[in-house]
Amino acid sequence: MLKRYDLWIGGKWRQAEQYEMLYAPYNGEELALIAQATPAEAEEAIVEAHAAYESYKRMPASQRSRILFRVAEAIEARREELAGIIAREAAKPMTAARAEIARTVETYRFSAEAAKNITGEQVAMDAAEGGQGKIGFTVRTPIGVVTAITPFNFPFNLVAHKVGPALAAGNAVVVKPAEQTPISALVLAELFAEAGLPAGVLAIVTGKGAELGEKLSSHPLVKKVSFTGSHAVGELIQRHAGLRRTTLELGSNSALIIDEGTNIDDILARCVAGAYAYNGQVCISLQRILVHRSLYEDFAARFAQAAKQLSVGAPLDDKTELTSLISEKAAHRVAAWVEEAAASGASVVAGGRMVEGEGNHIFAATVLTDVPRSAKVWSEEIFGPVAVIMPFDELEEAVRAINESRYGLQAGIYTANIHHAMAAALELEAGGVVINDIPTFRTDQMPYGGVKDSGKGTEGVAYAVEEMTQLKLIAIHLRK
Ligand code: NAD
Repeated sequence: MLKRYDLWIGGKWRQAEQYEMLYAPYNGEELALIAQATPAEAEEAIVEAHAAYESYKRMPASQRSRILFRVAEAIEARREELAGIIAREAAKPMTAARAEIARTVETYRFSAEAAKNITGEQVAMDAAEGGQGKIGFTVRTPIGVVTAITPFNFPFNLVAHKVGPALAAGNAVVVKPAEQTPISALVLAELFAEAGLPAGVLAIVTGKGAELGEKLSSHPLVKKVSFTGSHAVGELIQRHAGLRRTTLELGSNSALIIDEGTNIDDILARCVAGAYAYNGQVCISLQRILVHRSLYEDFAARFAQAAKQLSVGAPLDDKTELTSLISEKAAHRVAAWVEEAAASGASVVAGGRMVEGEGNHIFAATVLTDVPRSAKVWSEEIFGPVAVIMPFDELEEAVRAINESRYGLQAGIYTANIHHAMAAALELEAGGVVINDIPTFRTDQMPYGGVKDSGKGTEGVAYAVEEMTQLKLIAIHLRK
């Protein structure tokens, strides 16, 4: 029988007023009935989370840590089943879904470790004239209810990047997962309950972002909104959130420089993976590749050849490398942007069309050259299996072209020239620069966050914990 998922509020499943059917993107299979919370139900979740926070904030770090370790273990034990959930609801190829679960386990383990390392520092009070006779130090305290609004593309690990640090810090958290990927979040309810998390500290409210966003970002009991998703929604959330804390992890059109002298054999497979892993629906997907003119033609031909050879199929098939985009709407948008580029002079050297005869809305791995920099495929985030290749002569020219973007999440450079590596690292406007690998690189403890329209704030477990705690000064006047 088809499963029905209710709302997880106050440590219990609560029946909702409305439900909607969730369908698999690849074949339209009915997956489950999902509760569609109303703003009033979201408010209930916030109020109950706040009540639970009042005692959770006093739970010793050792216990918070143990709960997070237990959840990591439980996820690891059920890894194949949970990867299957991602593959079905997000149309993520199984190999990528397994990799996401492995990273999720790490994210919760890093969170468990972070819970035990929330510390302050001594302040040299007598360094100031008026400070003598005083001892000062800082402590980090929990802040209260955090809301976590998450995207579809890493439905386990990006929820973990908010839930893990929030709970490590002693906060309560209300999760609103993406419409397309609710089950990956809902399974956490029982995992955390079984691990010993007190009722109410974690709430999961499924439903429409557009209906719930304002409540989740502006309720007075919400002390921080941690959002990952598109720039347009991030901006709305910031407006609703006003002065309260926000972390906004937004989109990008990540770029890679391939410098003179690079051995194409060494990097080709990485570049193809960077552009097409999970159909290019990764926030740091490799979208723009700037190749030194001496390598340009050879690289473009070989990259296009490799793109054409990716194996297209069902997400649950281990061999599949490319499959359905998350929705028909997303596929139409990708197709329209590719058409716009072609109409303005770009050459389509691979793909450029929907794949017929397989699952729903699969867009072929696409390679474009001669793209005008005004085209959306260059200047905006495509979020699909499309890579643009462009030649350059001087490094400065490549850096300038990359920096024209309104986004700046991560960038990469392949080079054996230390001066070029350092110039790129220092000059590229991005939250992170990867030398001798693609920009599509992330491990879960490293600082991660964008500049410009890619957002504000930093994730990476320990950094997120910092942003989810309050730094408080304690000053003691010493009696003579
Ligand atoms: P999205 O912005 O459409 O949705 C993200 C979340 O916001 C969903 O839960 C959705 O329900 C919710 N939402 C929608 N409208 C809302 C509103 N008005 N108020 C509040 N919440 C609302 O993004 P998506 O399509 O799920 O994900 C793709 C985007 O996420 C891409 O731009 C991608 O680059 C970005 N992303 C960024 C990172 C990062 O770490 N920087 C990581 C992954 C994805």
